[in-house]
Amino acid sequence: MKAIAIDTGGSHAACAIIDECRILAAEHIPVADARCFGTLLPRLAAAATVLLERCGLTARDCRGVGVSFPGIVDPFSGRILSTPKGKYEDSIALDLPEWSRECFHLPLRIENDARMALLGEKHCGTARAFDDIVMLTLGTGVGGAAMMDGRLLRGKHFQACLGGHLPVVFDGRACICGSTGCVEAEASTWALPEICRVWPGFAQSGLAREPVLDFAALFRWSAAGDAVAMAIKDRCLQVWACGAVGLVHAYDPELLVLGGAVMKSADQVLPFLDDYVHSHAWTPWGKVQLRQAELGGEAGLLGAVPLLKETCR
Ligand SMILES: [Zn+2]
Repeated sequence: MKAIAIDTGGSHAACAIIDECRILAAEHIPVADARCFGTLLPRLAAAATVLLERCGLTARDCRGVGVSFPGIVDPFSGRILSTPKGKYEDSIALDLPEWSRECFHLPLRIENDARMALLGEKHCGTARAFDDIVMLTLGTGVGGAAMMDGRLLRGKHFQACLGGHLPVVFDGRACICGSTGCVEAEASTWALPEICRVWPGFAQSGLAREPVLDFAALFRWSAAGDAVAMAIKDRCLQVWACGAVGLVHAYDPELLVLGGAVMKSADQVLPFLDDYVHSHAWTPWGKVQLRQAELGGEAGLLGAVPLLKETCR
C-alpha cells in the first residue's frame, strides 16, 4: 500500500511518499514560524505533488494521506483538538480531511506524533514482533503512546497515555499542560535551560558558556566531568526512569521503546533506564524489554500506512 505521509513538528515538517516500509521520496520543509498551520498546508500540498511526480505516481496510486501532529487529535474525524501553547493554534479550526479531498481526492487520517512513532516502530521498526508496547519519546517535549493486544490505546478523549505528563514530582516545576512536576516539565529540551540556570553552581559550570542549553551540551559537559552537568544529567535520567516505571505499571507492556532526539545519546540513557526499570518495576512475570527506536525521524512518516490500514471504529 502506498500513502502520502506528512510529519509536522515544532521546528520541521516533512512530506514523503511511502510504500509500506519504504520511503520512495521525501522532502523536509523548514518551518520558521510554527504558529500558523494554515500557511504550511500549501507548501505541503506542493511538496507532495512534486514527490508523486518524481516517483512516477499520481494521488490515485495512494490509499490516503497520513499526518503526524504534535498535539491532541481525533484520528477518526481528522480534527485537531488541542495544540501546545503558541504552536499551530489555528489548526483547530482547519478541516484537514476537506483539504486532502480538494488537493488529492484522498481520505486523510491524523494521529498524535508519539502514537504515529509507535505505529511506525510496530510496522517497520524495533517493535515488529510485539503487540503490547509502550513508547516514550524524549525530545523538545516528552511523548507517550501505548499499544495493547496490537491496538493503539486512545481513550475517550484521545488523551490516553500522555506519558510526558505523568507527574513524577508532586511539588515540582510548572508544566505547559497546567499541572506540576510532569516528566516533561522536569526533563525535556524545552525545560532544560531553566533547570540549568537555577541549578546551584551553574555560573561556574561549563554549561554557562553554552549558547544553546540542550541535551547534547549537557551530555558533553557531563562526559567531561563537569559536576553541575553530571548532577543535572543524573536527575533527568531519574525523571525519565521514574516515568518509565509508571508507564510499565499502567500499561503492562512487554516492550518499552525509547525514541526522540535525546536518544541520539542512547548510550548515555538506555543502560540507566534499563537498570532502573528492572530494579523498580513490579513485573513478577519477567522483564520488560527496553529498546531504542530504530526509525529515528522517519517513524512519524512510516506510521502513515498502518494508520490508514486501521479499521475505523
Ligand atoms: Zn504536563
